[in-house]
Amino acid sequence: MKKIAILLSLLTFICTSTYAADEIISGEYIRKAQAKVDQIGFKLLNYNGIEKRTVFDFDTRKIKNAYSRSTDRQIVIYRGLFNRLESDDEIAAVLAHEIAHSVDSYNGILRGVFYSWSYYFAPKKYEYKADKKAVDYMVNANYNPVALIVVMNKTFPQNRFDWYSTHPLTSRRMMEVYEYIYKKYPEYLANNAYKNNIYYQNFLLTSKENRAKFQKKIEKKSKRTVNYL
Ligand SMILES: [Zn+2]
Repeated sequence: MKKIAILLSLLTFICTSTYAADEIISGEYIRKAQAKVDQIGFKLLNYNGIEKRTVFDFDTRKIKNAYSRSTDRQIVIYRGLFNRLESDDEIAAVLAHEIAHSVDSYNGILRGVFYSWSYYFAPKKYEYKADKKAVDYMVNANYNPVALIVVMNKTFPQNRFDWYSTHPLTSRRMMEVYEYIYKKYPEYLANNAYKNNIYYQNFLLTSKENRAKFQKKIEKKSKRTVNYL
């Protein structure tokens, strides 16, 4: 009997300590986070005149991801990723990317059910496309699109090889976003609000070579010297 009691208390201890390892999230926190996601998500939809109904769901799990499900056009953002976002611009970057997938998947014929922020579901060309669309959506809703580079640089790992995954190399993806902003919305780089942001500075450091090549190409074409950050 005593043995059973000891075993039981041990079991209770193990169970409660595993539960204790995950923080208890207050209803207040969840309400506030959901309200924030809704406020930014719906602003993106409305300012871009997106006529398809979409809903946003804040999921309290500690997963560092967000995804867009085209079966019911629902965009889910997990607490693990949400907590890494430091401004409305950064939240808008993730949501705009997922909205782009969601709108795109409904336009095409069965282009997959599931598009994710950082994993391996969407083919490369759809990722580049969603990134560029996200930049447009952000600008139209008065968010700074440079935040997309910032969020990518701090949350995406760098794959070793490009052929290895369906998602493109993060460095290449960030460079594509940079070039798109450079060509279409240069004012955000000429007067860059993120120039002192540590993640953006790290992007500048790691993209030095590629940016120099790109700048040379642009200068040759436009015959003017440009030096945006
Ligand atoms: Zn994606």
